[in-house]
Amino acid sequence: MLVMPEKFLLHVCCGPCALIPVMRLREQGHDVTGFFYNPNIHGAAEYLRRREALEAAAVRLGLPVCYLDGEYNPRLFFRVVANREEQRCEQCYRLRLERTFAFARDNGFQAVSTTLLYSRYQNREAILARGRALQEETGIRFPGEDFRPGWQQGIDLSRQWGLYRQNYCGCLYSELERHAKKLKRLAGTLETTPAVHRED
Ligand code: SF4
Repeated sequence: MLVMPEKFLLHVCCGPCALIPVMRLREQGHDVTGFFYNPNIHGAAEYLRRREALEAAAVRLGLPVCYLDGEYNPRLFFRVVANREEQRCEQCYRLRLERTFAFARDNGFQAVSTTLLYSRYQNREAILARGRALQEETGIRFPGEDFRPGWQQGIDLSRQWGLYRQNYCGCLYSELERHAKKLKRLAGTLETTPAVHRED
């Protein structure tokens, strides 16, 4: 199928997830710019670590990236998901994609995508539904490519490049879920650590 080259704004969640989407879109001839907007990330230190990984990946890829650091506001994320924790991922996609489309509209981009479509762990249908609704609203294309076939290739390359690979999705809820088993196990034991004696 013939694809017309477009000016593409790619929402990026982290460095490792950016590799395959950038390569695939470029293979189709698109002019890709990354867009790092992720107020869902829990903890400023974690935000900075993921940002640094993206910077390193961007150097390797020669990828221009817009970082919306001034809008890193986890309170906004918590406001958006408050009392809707069961649908938190849908709200999280909405928050990030709405901002991406607004930026694309204000800066003359013709199409939008997101690295969330690379992950096997995200809700692809919910991402597509939100992206298509925004496409209708704005007239900016959201082709919704499936980047998942490059999953293992992306992991191998990110390891080879020494990029930081986080072990939870991003928000506080996902971090708690990541450690849920261990926390549950610890909660079932009454453990007392030995006292530390100081000689002074
Ligand atoms: S699990 Fe991931 S996608 Fe879902 S709300 Fe948390 S950060 Fe967002």
